[in-house]
Amino acid sequence: MLCSTRILARLPCESRSSRCALSSRRVRSRLQGRMLAPHTMHDPTPTPPVPSSFRELGLPPTVVANLDALGYTVPTPIQAASLPAALSGRDVMAQAKTGSGKTAAFGLSLLAQLHTEFRGTQALVLCGGAPIRPQLASMEHGAHVVVGTPGRVLDHLRRGSLSLESLRSLVLDEADRMLDMGFRDDMVQVADACPWGRQTLLYSATWPEDVEVLGRKFLRDPVIVKLAEQHAPAKLRQLWYRIEEGERFEAAGKLLEHHRPSRALAFCNTKESCRSLLEALRARSVTALALHGDLDQKERDQVLVQFANRSVSVLVATDVAARGLDIEQLEAVLNVEVSPDAETHVHRVGRTGRVDQEGLALNLVGPRENFRVERIEALQGHACEWRPLTELKRAGAPPLPPMATLMILGGRKEKIRAGDILGALTAAGGVNGKQVGKIDINDHAAYVAVERSVAQAALERLRNAGIKGKSVKVHRL
Ligand code: ADP
Ligand code: MG
Repeated sequence: MLCSTRILARLPCESRSSRCALSSRRVRSRLQGRMLAPHTMHDPTPTPPVPSSFRELGLPPTVVANLDALGYTVPTPIQAASLPAALSGRDVMAQAKTGSGKTAAFGLSLLAQLHTEFRGTQALVLCGGAPIRPQLASMEHGAHVVVGTPGRVLDHLRRGSLSLESLRSLVLDEADRMLDMGFRDDMVQVADACPWGRQTLLYSATWPEDVEVLGRKFLRDPVIVKLAEQHAPAKLRQLWYRIEEGERFEAAGKLLEHHRPSRALAFCNTKESCRSLLEALRARSVTALALHGDLDQKERDQVLVQFANRSVSVLVATDVAARGLDIEQLEAVLNVEVSPDAETHVHRVGRTGRVDQEGLALNLVGPRENFRVERIEALQGHACEWRPLTELKRAGAPPLPPMATLMILGGRKEKIRAGDILGALTAAGGVNGKQVGKIDINDHAAYVAVERSVAQAALERLRNAGIKGKSVKVHRL
């Protein structure tokens, strides 16, 4: 996806269509209402008052007038918090959730700093979107702003069709998504090809550790802006159900059919229980996988990849097996057996709750587990909310996972990169890049998540067209 300044210059127009669908006031309250006040971590002095208009942000009056006419009357919190630093030339590392106005946050800064009297690429935006046909022609004329996936940009650098000599700003947009898609190495190479004295802006919807590491690597003394809502413990809802020992695994299935979480982690205390639960869930057509000590490394990887990329709805695990599992913000946690240890319980339920949704922990308690519940109540400092098992009504089959995983026999050692897979899938007539999810690449295997509805088409495409012209073995997990 490469384009000239015209694309970014057109940026405010996008708001016109969004204004039709949603009045600007409503967009604003949606954007602002759910956020906490921004804070900048590198500023020991009291945070300066957040600018409430684009004029105060230091944008030229003509730009302000244009924005105003197009319905951008008030900066969103992420724009207010990150634009001043970006406009002053500082590096910025910013997090705010999807739909919070990050594009204009960096777009306006890039445009304001552009020297249109000079030719040459002055700003490069790396993003996780799907590549579209490269526009070599527009680059020959020297586009001021180039936008593309790291893989595609790297290809152009190698071919010599893009020069970053006069680059002043590098933007890593959707940093979390780019890492998810396996673009890490490509990003490093592109960044290495950028002039040292450039400004770097990093924007991300989430802030996992790998994003932080990436920021520390590429940004110099960045201003850090985080707009994530804190996940208050009060936002966790725990429901407790008493069961007879013999109905435990059945009851777990009923919990899923009643509450219908899109993704849940179900804890058992032993691997025998994990096995029984898995059987019971599969009998109810729940897509579930189990993680337990008997799996070899390859099997474990495959289970983790499928759960992380949303190809599996329920992951069944013991506490030991789930250790180091880097997936939080789950819609629900099921404690199919009460943890013998109260602190472990708190740790289990801490994995549920998404940024803008309360967490849900569902607990089954057999006749011999009451004393464990008492210990948990003591640790939590409040009584448990008990519900009758009879309230569980089958609201429908548990939701199917949104994605499916294709496994490609070939990985890093075969020089297969995320961009190659994405490219092969989305080349003319292929699937839409938006339908491609996480891409994980190991030494000898690669896993790509695609929307369930296009899984078959994606599979055939890879089988018929191969990757980089070479045929590959692919199957659906
Ligand atoms: P993000 O990149 O954070 O997911 P976008 O940049 O795509 O979010 O913006 C989300 C929507 O909000 C877009 O439709 C955009 O036009 C609109 N928007 C952005 N900034 C403003 C603003 N200051 N006032 C009104 N609407 C805005
Ligand atoms: Mg965005």
